[in-house]
Order: sequence, then structure tokens, then C-alpha cells
Amino acid sequence: MAADADRRGATLAGDRSGYGDAAVSAQLIEALIDLAALLEKTGEYYYDIVPVKRLVLGDGGRSGNCEYCIEASDLGWIDQDDVFEGPDEDVDEAPLHFNCTCSVEFGEKRKRVYV
Ligand SMILES: [Zn+2]
Repeated sequence: MAADADRRGATLAGDRSGYGDAAVSAQLIEALIDLAALLEKTGEYYYDIVPVKRLVLGDGGRSGNCEYCIEASDLGWIDQDDVFEGPDEDVDEAPLHFNCTCSVEFGEKRKRVYV
């Protein structure tokens, strides 16, 4: 009799916990679906930080610098992996040529990356 009661108790407890797990799983899946929908709604991209640089014209500004430097500064912010076109060769940094007084400013920009 005592054994019967124990077995019934165990069965009930087992049933209850089994039901509980299923309910938690269903809730979890529902929450994940909601989260996925939310992420989709807020956009399918994130921001990445890209290192950039730009050529800052030296003494004289536009009128005091050669066309290579003016063209390079007109590019604005470019990838730090990109190069500036100098009269002799492409360069990563200032100076672009002999007597060039320009400098390179480094920064970073946020870029949208679509997933
Ligand atoms: Zn220059």
C-alpha cells in the first residue's frame, strides 16, 4: 500500500516534470522565433569599424600643391589599405614626392555590413 502510493507519487512527479520540460521548450522556441522576427525587423546589417586615412594638403593649400596631392586630398577618406598616386609611384603615406609637405590623417569610419 505504501509502495503503491510511492509509485503513484513518482509517476505523477515524472509526468509533471515531463510536461514542464515540454512547456519550457515550446516557450523557448516561441521566444527564439520572436527574437528572429525582431532582428529581421531592425535590419539585416550591422556596423563594422573600418580604418581610413586621408591626405591633408601641406603649406599653400590647393594653389600651393601639385596636382597629385590635390587629387589625393580630393579622394577624401579612403581605406587604409588603399594607396595615393604619386608622380613616381603609389604610396601609402605622405610625402607623395620630394618636397611634399602634405600629411596623412588617420581615422575610422563605421560601415554597414549586410548579413
Ligand atoms: Zn603633397
